[in-house]
Amino acid sequence: MAEGCAPGVCVYCGSRAGDDPAFVAEARQLGRELARAGLRVVYGAGDIGMMGAVADGAKEAGGQRLGVITQHLIGREARNRDLNGCIVTETMHERKKVMFMNADAVVALPGGPGTLDELFEVLTWRQLGLHDKPVLLLNTLGYWDPLIALIDSIITRGFADRSFAGFLTVCQSPDAVIAELRARLSRRNNSTQ
Ligand code: AMP
Repeated sequence: MAEGCAPGVCVYCGSRAGDDPAFVAEARQLGRELARAGLRVVYGAGDIGMMGAVADGAKEAGGQRLGVITQHLIGREARNRDLNGCIVTETMHERKKVMFMNADAVVALPGGPGTLDELFEVLTWRQLGLHDKPVLLLNTLGYWDPLIALIDSIITRGFADRSFAGFLTVCQSPDAVIAELRARLSRRNNSTQ
């Protein structure tokens, strides 16, 4: 964790809002709770869908945010966002790298293919021993249940080690995400002192 800087939590989530208002409501609530917990939200800088809701929640509660977006996505995902304090990258790979570098933990909220790409990249990096940052799932309305079942099946069918399931912590509410982050980040902090 960089000294003098609030711990960063990288939030991966949909650029869409999903089919139930509960998705956006929980995203916004998580943004607020991250801010109140003194955690900096690191996200894709978008003002749409789940991404916009997390950022708005964090802003409402006066929290720190770091947005990271590619030049080519500004018009599509961050048309109305004030990009002051955001980092604009040239490529998607750079975007993911900058987001992850600025994070002490990762939380994935409901989202689509982009969210899955981001989530599986950090999980596979973890599997390779490239980091040990906590990776959490916010399971709003049981959205991730099919993914959790797929991971179980991948392990049962012999395509991943049992330890792979342990790289992911499933949380059923924003409160549970915050409690898990508090516990895991203070443990990491103590072990690096
Ligand atoms: P989605 O979950 O598909 O709505 O996408 C969520 C976020 O992931 C959006 O900001 C996308 O720009 C981003 N995204 C989509 N595809 C990729 C990718 N291959 N690598 C990194 N980010 C992506």
